[in-house]
Amino acid sequence: MSLLIDGKKLAAEVRSEVKYEVEVILKQGKPAPGLNLLLVGSDPASEIYVRYKSKDCEQVGIVSTIVRLPDTASEEEVVAIVNLWNEDRKVDGILVQLPLPKQINEQRVLQSINPLKDVDGFHPVNVGKLVIGLPGFVPCTPAGVVEMLRRYDIPTSGKHVVIVGRSNIVGKPLAMLLAQKKLPGNSTVAICHSATEDLESYTKRADILIAAVGSRHLITSKHVKTGAVVIDVGINRYEKPDGTFGLTGDVDFEDVYEKVSAITPVPGGVGPMTRALLLKNTLLAASGVFT
Ligand code: NAD
Repeated sequence: MSLLIDGKKLAAEVRSEVKYEVEVILKQGKPAPGLNLLLVGSDPASEIYVRYKSKDCEQVGIVSTIVRLPDTASEEEVVAIVNLWNEDRKVDGILVQLPLPKQINEQRVLQSINPLKDVDGFHPVNVGKLVIGLPGFVPCTPAGVVEMLRRYDIPTSGKHVVIVGRSNIVGKPLAMLLAQKKLPGNSTVAICHSATEDLESYTKRADILIAAVGSRHLITSKHVKTGAVVIDVGINRYEKPDGTFGLTGDVDFEDVYEKVSAITPVPGGVGPMTRALLLKNTLLAASGVFT
């Protein structure tokens, strides 16, 4: 019988821990942590994500502010807002929702965020800290995955981890986290990507297989070792036979379920943990632990 890793339950735990910490801050007479979100353009998915993030903040007592700019906004306008927030003591965390419209250089915007307010963990200073093992903001999805492994007591030390996907927001930081000596980690990590030849020859050797690609059913039972732990980061929208739409991961869940020892569902796995870890990062920003 395979274990279903319940991301919703774990996320609720993280949220209640953050809520408790926010109450402690308020009891000390300090202001509630503040997260400012910048949404540029009218991408429907981004609109939904930003609204969820703001609602999550409200639930735990974090004050969130959403500022919207039109699709036509210039890079200078975006950076000017970020600079204002960098200087504003009421703003603990800054999140610029990605993707940005084509005329805006994403890296330039991310690099304009004060690294001490960079709750997404995408600033090169925080990426560098992660690589050399210094305390800093860790991107929410990789942090959420590691938190799942920790809370389910899934052994990682000496284990063979294979990550499919090498993005800056998931694959690469996750590889760094799990390769470092600190637990959960101390794993032997391989990163596969679009140019990997014979993907199956890598994935089927994994004790822990993590898929972060964005390709429905890329991973099937032939890719998975018996007893492996499978973490499915992918989110893919697909049309059902009745014409409605559903969400699924990169892993063919039905096909691999009996073969693995533990697996995350989509939805209800990594997604809720990503959202919860943003709250945790905002709390860390307000606590000033990285200064
Ligand atoms: P991305 O789109 O930036 O990159 C995809 C990666 O997959 C690339 O590194 C590419 O080399 C690799 N790839 C593509 N085709 C491949 C193939 N056939 N075999 C092996 N590797 C292949 O990825 P991203 O932004 O990290 O997102 C990946 C998926 O995770 C998407 O579905 C995204 O929606 C989802 N996601 C989920 C969460 C969450 O909270 N659950 C968070 C972030 C991203």
